[in-house]
Amino acid sequence: MRPRDLLHPRPEGLYCPPGDFFIDPVQPVDRALITHGHSDHARAGHRHVLATRQTLDIMALRCGEGFAGATQAAALGETLSHGGVAVTFQPAGHVLGSAQILVEHDGTRIVVSGDYKRSADPTCAPFVPIPCDVFITEATFGLPVFRHPPAAEEIGRLVKSVHQFPERSHLIGAYALGKAQRVIRLLREAGHDQTIYVHGALDRLCDYFESQGVRLGPLAPATVETGSKGDFAGAIVVGPPSAFVDRWARRFPDPVACFASGWMRIRQRAKQRGVELPLIVSDHSDWDELVETIEETGASEVWVTHGREEALVRWCELNGIAAKALHLVGYEDEGD
Ligand SMILES: [Zn+2]
Ligand SMILES: [Zn+2]
Repeated sequence: MRPRDLLHPRPEGLYCPPGDFFIDPVQPVDRALITHGHSDHARAGHRHVLATRQTLDIMALRCGEGFAGATQAAALGETLSHGGVAVTFQPAGHVLGSAQILVEHDGTRIVVSGDYKRSADPTCAPFVPIPCDVFITEATFGLPVFRHPPAAEEIGRLVKSVHQFPERSHLIGAYALGKAQRVIRLLREAGHDQTIYVHGALDRLCDYFESQGVRLGPLAPATVETGSKGDFAGAIVVGPPSAFVDRWARRFPDPVACFASGWMRIRQRAKQRGVELPLIVSDHSDWDELVETIEETGASEVWVTHGREEALVRWCELNGIAAKALHLVGYEDEGD
């Protein structure tokens, strides 16, 4: 079977004709397999959704209980038959619940990686390399200039700044699903055991991560009702990036604006956003992780879904791997 007969792009998303399902469709479909809970991959309105238990829970938290007609949980590593096509979910190391999906039919193996990273993340299961014929990868940071430093080092700079400026608050912009909890967890691992204040938009997700065994330590709501402005002196406050442009952010004393994102590698972006302390903490693979992963899968063909496709496609060709960009639209790098 030719790989493109097993999986190919359609306007709704990647489609599998023999199994009659889509993976991470951007429009409502009958059957959707979802890699992870970020909103560009996990949308409401499908008739039937197959995803990991955690991704289903996260979708319910973010989109409401009625986000799909019916749901089915896929256990990691367990192979299910879907319309005669074998599908297996394996950890992607991207955010809690994230999975790659192996699609197998007539001896052809295609892995849809979703978003993924290889560096350690204390808030989710580590990526598992899967041997396959075709590896479908993202390329959010698919340029050789993108090399992410160890996240613990970045958090170390934050802790240092907190000690250096005890009268100021540190406001950290971090995406609500995954990044925020990872930053909080890394702060705990760095020995920061004081209360961390969180924006209301993170409450339910933080509670959910806790329920899944991700210890976040003492958290409190970052609202003025809980005290006066001075109470936040020396404190760390975490909120979604969008919250930092509204009035909410003005209640904190002389805040140090921080933003945790892989994009903080680009100084210009940090400047544009008025970020004083950029923290390069990414939930996507950097260039090295992308090429190492491609090599590890042993794939003879690579398809690139979104991001900086050109350099990665070129790298594959130079290394004897057939490659093409799928130019899928609708993926926006939420979470980085
Ligand atoms: Zn994502
Ligand atoms: Zn994405």
